[in-house]
Amino acid sequence: MPEETISTVTISSEPSARSSTTANNQQPQPQSERKPLNLGPLTEIHAFWIAGMSCDGCSIAAVGATNPSVESLLLGIVPGMPKLILHHPVLAVEAGDAFVHPFYLAEEGKLDAPYVLILEGSIPDERIAAKTGGYWSACGVEVREDGTHRPIPSAEWVKRLAPGAAAVIAIGTCATWGGVPAAAGNATGAMGLMDFLGRDYRSAFGLPVINIPGCSPVGDNFTETVAAILLFLQGLGPLPEFDELGRPAWLFRETVHTHCVRAGFYEEGTFAENYGDKECLVEVGCWGPVVQCNITSRGAINHMGGCMNTGGICIGCTMPGFPDRFAPFYKRPPGSLLSTNTSRLTGALIRRLRRTTLAFQNRETRWDREGNVPSGWGAVQEPSKLKAAMHFLYEKMQARGTRAKIGSKSSNN
Ligand code: SF4
Repeated sequence: MPEETISTVTISSEPSARSSTTANNQQPQPQSERKPLNLGPLTEIHAFWIAGMSCDGCSIAAVGATNPSVESLLLGIVPGMPKLILHHPVLAVEAGDAFVHPFYLAEEGKLDAPYVLILEGSIPDERIAAKTGGYWSACGVEVREDGTHRPIPSAEWVKRLAPGAAAVIAIGTCATWGGVPAAAGNATGAMGLMDFLGRDYRSAFGLPVINIPGCSPVGDNFTETVAAILLFLQGLGPLPEFDELGRPAWLFRETVHTHCVRAGFYEEGTFAENYGDKECLVEVGCWGPVVQCNITSRGAINHMGGCMNTGGICIGCTMPGFPDRFAPFYKRPPGSLLSTNTSRLTGALIRRLRRTTLAFQNRETRWDREGNVPSGWGAVQEPSKLKAAMHFLYEKMQARGTRAKIGSKSSNN
């Protein structure tokens, strides 16, 4: 990272008021003024984890990550990586004032190291809750001028900490795109972090919001991205590639379908009729062909589990259109009618041809010469004359342009 880039990046110079002068009934907006940020080789970096409208599933997913694990980031044992000091409302040992204190230090620019801001859950419109004197989601309590207390909304913490953060990361579909709390009938005005901070938001290091969607997300997608960003902040690696929606491109470029363990069934035109069947699940509601996610190749935890791997359909949980554009779940996507019927037509022919080839590849050439398979496990049918002729032509094509002779691969048997 060129030094001049580092020295010219600026952040908010005006810490938010610590008292309750920020009216509870105003939707906080991100600040635009900035001041210099000093970054260099870091030994430590703080991570402030803020929970909005969330079920804590993202936290559970993150602590299940294995490559790298949260533990290895916290212990600072990943080579080249600064030690992560995590301030998490559920995992923290501290409570009360001791837990909230570093949040204030970060807001006031008095932390001993840079910080990243992580949001789990969507950001509600606190003006709605304030009308009845309540709040939707909060962390910590402040004393009003009149001596009464008020919880500090998560939205307000985002507003206070986002301008000074080296990077801002939204984890999970609620934090990225609004998710379930922002679905039709949304009573809270919930929205994702990018919607809340707006197009012009940039972190102190000049980065827009980084989005790692999923409900719940793959924990490794999160820790791997955090690790890549930390290496970038260290000056040890390039800025990872993000797509136009701020998703790590190498993780979300392809669809679920591309790497699905059932994609072969789709291609050969065989489809499950019931949950629990082994074939492709598109006709019982799978949206995998049009959903960007790597769950089928990465698995849920430690390369194990994951929707289609374990019999579940894809309901599009990583997508900005989730859940409304994918509902009602368990109804087949209308677009699949064309593609599955096409697969059925072509697949029926291709499947038969492949079975014929497979039957011959399952034989030693010696067995062809002797016309007998000496297996004690069962009677193996000899191929019909038609199939033998078809396969002869197939092998001729295979050997064309080479010195190979038909059946030469095992002629020494
Ligand atoms: Fe594609 Fe879904 Fe079928 Fe897998 S189960 S092959 S993702 S349509």
